Amino acid sequence: QEDLFKNVISHAKEYGFIFPSSEVYDGLSAVYDYGQNGVELKKNIREYWWKAMVQMHENIVGLDAAILMHPTTWKASGHVDAFNDPLIDNKDSKKRYRADVLIEDYCEKLNQKAQKEIDKAKERFGDAFDEAQFVATNARVVEYKARQKEILGRMASGLESGNLEDVKALIEELGIADPETGSKNWTEVRQFNLMFGTKLGASAENAMDLYLRPETAQGIFVNFLNVQKSGRMKVPFGIAQTGKAFRNEIVARQFIFRMREFEQMEMQFFVRPGEEMKYYEYWKDTRLKWHLSLGLGKENYRFHDHEKLAHYANAAADIEFNFPFGFKELEGIHSRTDFDLKAHEQHSGRKLQYFDPELNENYVPYVVETSVGLDRMFLAIFSKSLKEETLEDGSTRTVLALPAVLAPTKAAVLPLVKKDGLPDLAQKIVDDLKWDFNVAYDEKDAVGRRYRRQDALGTPFCITVDHQTLEDNTVTIRHRDSMKQDRVDIAQLRTLINDEVSM
Ligand code: ATP
Repeated sequence: QEDLFKNVISHAKEYGFIFPSSEVYDGLSAVYDYGQNGVELKKNIREYWWKAMVQMHENIVGLDAAILMHPTTWKASGHVDAFNDPLIDNKDSKKRYRADVLIEDYCEKLNQKAQKEIDKAKERFGDAFDEAQFVATNARVVEYKARQKEILGRMASGLESGNLEDVKALIEELGIADPETGSKNWTEVRQFNLMFGTKLGASAENAMDLYLRPETAQGIFVNFLNVQKSGRMKVPFGIAQTGKAFRNEIVARQFIFRMREFEQMEMQFFVRPGEEMKYYEYWKDTRLKWHLSLGLGKENYRFHDHEKLAHYANAAADIEFNFPFGFKELEGIHSRTDFDLKAHEQHSGRKLQYFDPELNENYVPYVVETSVGLDRMFLAIFSKSLKEETLEDGSTRTVLALPAVLAPTKAAVLPLVKKDGLPDLAQKIVDDLKWDFNVAYDEKDAVGRRYRRQDALGTPFCITVDHQTLEDNTVTIRHRDSMKQDRVDIAQLRTLINDEVSM
């Protein structure tokens, strides 16, 4: 697993997907740049989301609010007072950690132990195995699960009540060691605010303290009435937005999983008070289906229903994904009640209410939110698509089996040799197809090497122009995953590719 993760990081760099930020100056921790192929993949993921959320829902519209917002926004939202992570330092190694993450990782290990018991039993009993019954009755599995629940419960109440010494005591009681050095010599736990501050204005005296937004959601809330009125929207309706968010994360070691500058894709769905649970269930279900539509494997997703809730929520669940370092949050679905709109009413003195013509009354709508990290989606897709395959002849190939709709380049056109007019003909095909798709032209190296390069970039099709093409206008089209080659007419290419890659 660790090797897989290393491969993901090095492949992403070698093939122009992701580079460390300002690398010539040795990089900036937890900040990354997307290269020539990464930017295309990222754009395609964003579009895939936008299409599913905005284009396919008549009652959802888009928004692009600014990153900088009036500072009172963050007072109202609770971020100034409560957007903190509990941090702890190791006195020997001087390394800093998130106390909650240390404890969660400990619990994940218990989880893995339970899973091992389940897997063993599965093997032993075969088809007759009843997993639900086993989980409910096997003494060891029951014990692991109960232990986890107890630990997470104690952590949550320590964090919630502000009794951070309880959280430290828990870490010591569990014997949690510095993951890098094994030392158990911990400092106190302290709260650390994650927002990046900045200043607006030219002179020091008049400058206004601002924050870079830590989430895109608040831009939606403060525009709720603008959109509702100008778009004559009727509850229930949604506002969707993608954009950058910034958090001064303490732990920043998991590549693009946890970044200090990242992109979110969020949708706030405004509903009648009392109807929120219905829509909460609807969006949990709908969002999971969206993830599954990418074909990365059902077994790689699971729900995690929150028992302890944030100050603004009355129900919350994560969709977790099986990343190279285990199951972790990919998306959050939150029933946020009327907390945000009411808070903005209080702090602004303006009414943020909706007149419901059917009920003939005014109210502050309740909100169900779906929030997914674009970079985390990128990592999920990229890491599950990267494969080392052993072929029939014993050789190996690296293939990035991306969902074709998301692939940065849809087809590469390759002249078999660099002479006899084949390059011109290949270029003509590129010039024709590029109106519809990203296509690449490649004439360097033997054709087998070129196939391998396109496999590693995730290109679903290679189109090879050879001497027969000069005679009958046919080319070979090679499929990335099966490596099968078909002979087809040039005129068929557009339809063939389109069938596979259109969203
Ligand atoms: P975590 O517990 O992993 O820090 P969170 O619960 O704080 O995440 P939310 O505030 O619910 O996350 O943000 C919604 C989504 O934004 C997350 O599900 C995740 O996909 C993404 N996200 C949050 N923080 C980061 C980050 N630092 N880097 C990349 N993506 C992030």
